[in-house]
Amino acid sequence: MRGKVRVVSIGECMVEFAPTSNGQFAMGFAGDTFNTAWYLRRLLPATATVSYLSAVGTDGMSDQMVGFMTAEGILTDTVQRVPGRSVGLYVIQLTNGERSFAYWRSTSAARLLAEDADRLWSALDGADLIYLSGITLAILSAEARVRLMASLARARAAGSKVAFDPNIRPGLWSDAPTMLQSISAMAAAADIVLPSHEDEARHFGDPDPVATAHRYAGSGSTLVVVKDGPMPVVTLHAGHAERHPVPVPSAPVVDTTAAGDSFNAGFLASFLTNANLSEAVAAGTSLAARVIAGPGALVRTAVGAVP
Ligand code: ADP
Repeated sequence: MRGKVRVVSIGECMVEFAPTSNGQFAMGFAGDTFNTAWYLRRLLPATATVSYLSAVGTDGMSDQMVGFMTAEGILTDTVQRVPGRSVGLYVIQLTNGERSFAYWRSTSAARLLAEDADRLWSALDGADLIYLSGITLAILSAEARVRLMASLARARAAGSKVAFDPNIRPGLWSDAPTMLQSISAMAAAADIVLPSHEDEARHFGDPDPVATAHRYAGSGSTLVVVKDGPMPVVTLHAGHAERHPVPVPSAPVVDTTAAGDSFNAGFLASFLTNANLSEAVAAGTSLAARVIAGPGALVRTAVGAVP
């Protein structure tokens, strides 16, 4: 790895209320791209920096969120403050052991994270790795999506690598054609695409993970890494497809929240270090196995401390 690796993850972190055993709720902070940033911070050496590019309000809850990020070792100078807005919220409900989620996020400050091209560029300039997801794109206006993609193209031209998890969530998009077109366009403009086959099968109709990999590679993605729950991870790089079996986890599966987010962090941290595909997939599946053995998105027992 080069001396001082700089990672920037882009998206929305939310307040989380998770049920506790005594019938109350515990407050935390989570969100797909934030979860990946949190794991990356713990996996990468102290010389690396991990920044979160987002927007929050100027209220007390926003202060608490930024304070949490900072305490977890994530740089927040790329978190914009938007007066009059606040952060999004979700509540996890448990009904007969099944988790469901209720969201209050439609007016969150994070929706305004890409309003200013100069601010975007100053956050992305010089990044070695930039990470975002389909949720990052979904919460933006059409104009802001174009602005963000232009900044990402500029960063790539200057040497940054862009990694993208499509994380397809139809409820966040205005309509299906916009969703599929935006996700395909972003994947085509990314160096590494990290889809989950289940989502891709449902929305793009891919019959199997190899088809998902070929669809994204065919549109221009350099490296595609397709996750499929406990089934093998499929990679496609320079026309060469490979299946990587997922080891059976040694601990029981407790909660699959953030399985994909943590896989991505394990994969990317390893791939940044030595660019060996099989080792990077193994790092991803090994971290994901530890994360799904514990409750919640940010499983402290799955990774070391902030270096
Ligand atoms: P997502 O959370 O994005 O839906 P997946 O469910 O495809 O992601 O899982 C991501 C990774 O998490 C998989 O590649 C695998 O390593 C691990 N994983 C998920 N579910 C299981 C499981 N039931 N058993 C073992 N590993 C799993």
